Amino acid sequence: MNSVWGRSLVVLVLFALGCLVLWPIFGAVAAWAVFSAGLLFSIFLHLRHISVLLGWLRDPTPDAVPQGIGIWDEVFAAFYRMLRRQRQSESQLSATLEDFQQAGAAMPDGLVILDQADRIEWCNPVAERHLGIDRNRDAGQQITYLVRHPQFAETLRMQNYSEPLMLRQSRGSSLILSVQLVPYGDRQKLVISRDVTELERVETMRRDFIANVSHELRTPLTVVGGFLETISDMNAADGDLLRRSLPLMMDQARRMQRLVEDLLTLSRLESANNPAREERVSAPDLARALYQDALALSSGRHRIKLDIGCEDGLIGSEDELRSAFSNLISNAIRYTPDGGEVAISWQRRGNQAVFSVRDSGIGINPEHIPRLTERFYRVDRSRSRETGGTGLGLAIVKHVLNRHQGQLEVASEAGRGSTFSALFPEARLLAAETGKVALAKTA
Ligand code: ADP
Repeated sequence: MNSVWGRSLVVLVLFALGCLVLWPIFGAVAAWAVFSAGLLFSIFLHLRHISVLLGWLRDPTPDAVPQGIGIWDEVFAAFYRMLRRQRQSESQLSATLEDFQQAGAAMPDGLVILDQADRIEWCNPVAERHLGIDRNRDAGQQITYLVRHPQFAETLRMQNYSEPLMLRQSRGSSLILSVQLVPYGDRQKLVISRDVTELERVETMRRDFIANVSHELRTPLTVVGGFLETISDMNAADGDLLRRSLPLMMDQARRMQRLVEDLLTLSRLESANNPAREERVSAPDLARALYQDALALSSGRHRIKLDIGCEDGLIGSEDELRSAFSNLISNAIRYTPDGGEVAISWQRRGNQAVFSVRDSGIGINPEHIPRLTERFYRVDRSRSRETGGTGLGLAIVKHVLNRHQGQLEVASEAGRGSTFSALFPEARLLAAETGKVALAKTA
């Protein structure tokens, strides 16, 4: 017997006994009247408390729990405790949910929760970006209406979630996504999306690079191999054939050598554990030496000019800078017809310094300019080959400049000529006086 019930029973029994005591003193009528009045009062009290309880239950807030008398005080207190427990577990639940959503939002991958019918229940901001969906607007929508990709719809339909999918150009963007579907619970699914655009770009570059190198090496190897085969077939070396074929073989061998040297230079420049040296380089002296090389390379076919506008030096790797600058000069000579002009200069431009090579050569149409520094990109493949180009010169220039926090600027007009400028930031410059003193000291 619980205490409330026990206490109520005791009160009822005492009240009935009280009425029985009244009977012999005041008579039966008076005893029954008191008993009835007591019962009516008790019914009134209970009805009153029930109506208060109903009123409170319409908007049950723990702060406004009504006060009761007797047993009703305990009833209200029990309601209050129940409500508090419920509120506590609700706030624990929403804190857990918030934690989960925050963890989901912080994930580097996109995350979408789908219900049994593939409708969106929740997604994180990365998924919104990846899949072009909006958590508030699209909640409850079928994901296949929003991610319009036949392969994705087919995978959901077939429930074949073993392999991740590659989704390209979803919603007109250039994103490449790897999307994995993970079933859980009662036919619900997680959609995990990962941006693999950069990985794919690197993979494509790697494939193109191998294809290009193989292609570049195949022609000279075929020529040399062909000659060697003919000579060996003849048994005894034919003096005339040898005389004609040797220069061609040497030419092709030199081409392969240049290609391999440029490839090695590029790989050295790209190597993470080979940072650029920090030497004090006299840029004006370097420009003067390269001017002499240009004269020799042109052998009188062009007018070559040199303009040293400032004596500032550079902090960097002399070998790398020489390689970059001489690539720009040799390009200017190779792509400028005989009789044209090539001007080399070293100047200040505001707080930057610029090594530039201007030519009056064949020029470049604007659509090619953004791609010139890609490996093996050539505007005119045969002209590049004829003049001994490897297609790697400007890729080397770009790498060297990157390693010196520099920039390559290209201005060109087809048929009129080009200017290639290497810009260096102030932090890389050695002011003329300091540079001279320092250079003298190191000499
Ligand atoms: P390549 O060995 O073919 O010269 P580069 O990487 O040095 O390779 O140059 C890439 C391409 O840019 C060249 O094939 C050529 O089409 C173009 N180019 C570079 N420099 C010049 C220039 N001074 N004038 C015209 N075209 C140029």
